[in-house]
Amino acid sequence: MSVQVIRTKDDLRAALRPRRRAGETIGLVPTMGYLHDGHLALIRAARERCDVVVMSLFVNPTQFREGEDLESYPRDEERDLALAEEAGADIVYAPSVEDVYPNGFATWVEVGGGLTDVLCGDPGRRGPDHFRGVTTVVAKLFNTVEPDASFFGQKDAQQAIVIRRMARDLDFRTEIVTVPTVREPDGLAMSSRNTYLSPADRERAPALYRALRTAQEAVEGGASLDDALADARRVLTEAGIEPEYLEARYADDLTPAAAFDGRPVLVAVAARVGAARLIDNVVLGPPSEAETPAE
Ligand code: AMP
Repeated sequence: MSVQVIRTKDDLRAALRPRRRAGETIGLVPTMGYLHDGHLALIRAARERCDVVVMSLFVNPTQFREGEDLESYPRDEERDLALAEEAGADIVYAPSVEDVYPNGFATWVEVGGGLTDVLCGDPGRRGPDHFRGVTTVVAKLFNTVEPDASFFGQKDAQQAIVIRRMARDLDFRTEIVTVPTVREPDGLAMSSRNTYLSPADRERAPALYRALRTAQEAVEGGASLDDALADARRVLTEAGIEPEYLEARYADDLTPAAAFDGRPVLVAVAARVGAARLIDNVVLGPPSEAETPAE
């Protein structure tokens, strides 16, 4: 295997130093592993733009709430290494929890601005501490890797928005690239957590994207956002899915969107389908405009 597996941040810095000195650009793809085509799209995007591609592979305990799936989160490092290499990763950084969070770890990176206490960050859902865990580990990765560009999936739209704000506010010099959501043929957004779906739940799960597309088509047909969300909700109900949330928010600051004001609107959904908590989203432009990335 030619992909280099690195276990500590000191070894990672040592491996990257000569590459950076030689003028090579570095791309970072943070993941929690159990790779699917969504992750591989991020690695390929990094491969296209950067000389050195670093994928991190770390199930980050601080972004899981008590009672969530930290222990049962699917893991298969050997398979991940083979897939990462095939997609073009040069280095896989797979640290231990102790390497990332040494004894006495007590420093956190927290993004405010109303970005982390809504949608998945609502205290009644995963809560703002989920994003605090994400931004802390990503900030640490940015510091260790010093990437020229970092790649995140549109599937986790709120996460990408939060990280973009963190990078801007804390002067990280990395470019944040958002990669479109990769889907199964029936529309279900790929996710490591899809493995939790029973065959019957797997059949119901594409209703999330169907609902989002229904809202999108309603808006394109001239419906109000409220009516479009009501149409989407009906699609979920028909599939027996009660969403945790189904909301329209402006994609730049995540404030509630009641109407188009020229800014892209994120329509985001989260729902428990059997044993899996699934999320998905689409970004809508004003009626008659094509889908706009959440930049
Ligand atoms: P995870 O391993 O689930 O933490 O995801 C690692 C990265 O892959 C994040 O930036 C995700 O947004 C991205 N990602 C996960 N699923 C998809 C998908 N279906 N399409 C595109 N990117 C994805």
